Amino acid sequence: MVKKIQIGIIVIIALFSFSANAQSNKCGTMQQLHKSIANDPTLKQRMLKSEKSARLWNLNHLNKRKSEGNLIIIPTVVHVIWNSSIENVSDEQIRSQIDVLNNDFRLMNEDSLDDQHPFHPFVVDTKIEFCLAQQDENGNATNGITRTQTNVISWKEDNWDDIKSTDSGGKNNWDPEKYLNIYVVNIDGGILGFASFPDELQSKPDLDGVVIRFEAFGTKGTAGSGEFAINDKGRTGTHEVGHWLNLRHIWGDTACGDDFVDDTEKAEKANFDKPVFPHRANNQCGSGDNGEMYMNFMDYVDDSSMVMFTSGQASRMSATLNGLRVGLLTSNGCELTNVINDLNSVNSVMVYPNPNNGQFILSIDLNNHTVVRASIINMLGGIVKDIGIITKDRSPIDITDVQAGAYYLRISNTTSSIIKKVFITE
Ligand SMILES: [Zn+2]
Repeated sequence: MVKKIQIGIIVIIALFSFSANAQSNKCGTMQQLHKSIANDPTLKQRMLKSEKSARLWNLNHLNKRKSEGNLIIIPTVVHVIWNSSIENVSDEQIRSQIDVLNNDFRLMNEDSLDDQHPFHPFVVDTKIEFCLAQQDENGNATNGITRTQTNVISWKEDNWDDIKSTDSGGKNNWDPEKYLNIYVVNIDGGILGFASFPDELQSKPDLDGVVIRFEAFGTKGTAGSGEFAINDKGRTGTHEVGHWLNLRHIWGDTACGDDFVDDTEKAEKANFDKPVFPHRANNQCGSGDNGEMYMNFMDYVDDSSMVMFTSGQASRMSATLNGLRVGLLTSNGCELTNVINDLNSVNSVMVYPNPNNGQFILSIDLNNHTVVRASIINMLGGIVKDIGIITKDRSPIDITDVQAGAYYLRISNTTSSIIKKVFITE
């Protein structure tokens, strides 16, 4: 009993501890959390409760994740809030951030640890992807980007909440149960970004989302400009979306703290710059011969030095997506709207098996007199592969040269088209 009480106290301390260090604070997420807790006394209790639920979910799904391989695609809207025109980042820069998220979360980042690295066994594909929304919360077609000109020159901490308020010079978020809202703004001071935690969704849905400064957003345009040269690889986005899916800083926001993940090494505090492996900032933390896992996305190192999520972190994010953020799983934000479902003479389209390894059967009832073309398009609407004219009712398709992921199969003739989701596994 005594032990239980002690453990409980440790969890409470770890959940809510936070050592502010103005000089070295790159991320404002914990500051925001403490403000939320001060404004909402029930939040602390809810967080403790969902911590237990997350652990239970992970226990129940311990060995299922890898084998099931179910991919989750998060509809994402990027809100650009700009005062000076340089802050009005291009569509191309926005797409570069979505690419970084997809590469980092799907373990397709080129700078991932090589298989000889002692931490390589912990590296994992989280099976989470992001699409720029194809339809807005009212069902209208969209490119997943909104642009708002504001009179606010830069966003000081006192008015960070206003970023998500149309009435206060920002932009209301889209239904946070259905979309990841990413804001690109000019943050006052040196903070790179901040995010809301899943537990805040219930009490403050209008403040849900991720905020990133325009100099640390994506990999193109203004990314890495000015004094933010080390933030040029879009990893602020990866880090903040990690928080949004309930990940904590790797050092647990207190000396040798807990990040509620079992397979990340203890760390004394945030690591900066480009540490060299093995990096032992403080052996008292109990990190082993391999030192601290500074290359984790949830540390504070340079963009070029953070390269991985662990299996434990992926499980924690999965628990969130099957718990507090479960609404995203049924969101139709990624579905195309400009689909005409009356493709002449094509009565039915089937893809099987689905998911598949890139080889599948496309079955269409062609009624013998229609020429249709099939193509594979990605979540951003770009054609990944043109399959060509389909002439048979039952055609074996081979797209094993396409990277694993979620795609749309588009079947079209000159006047109309229909789409089917296709999941390619490895
Ligand atoms: Zn952070």
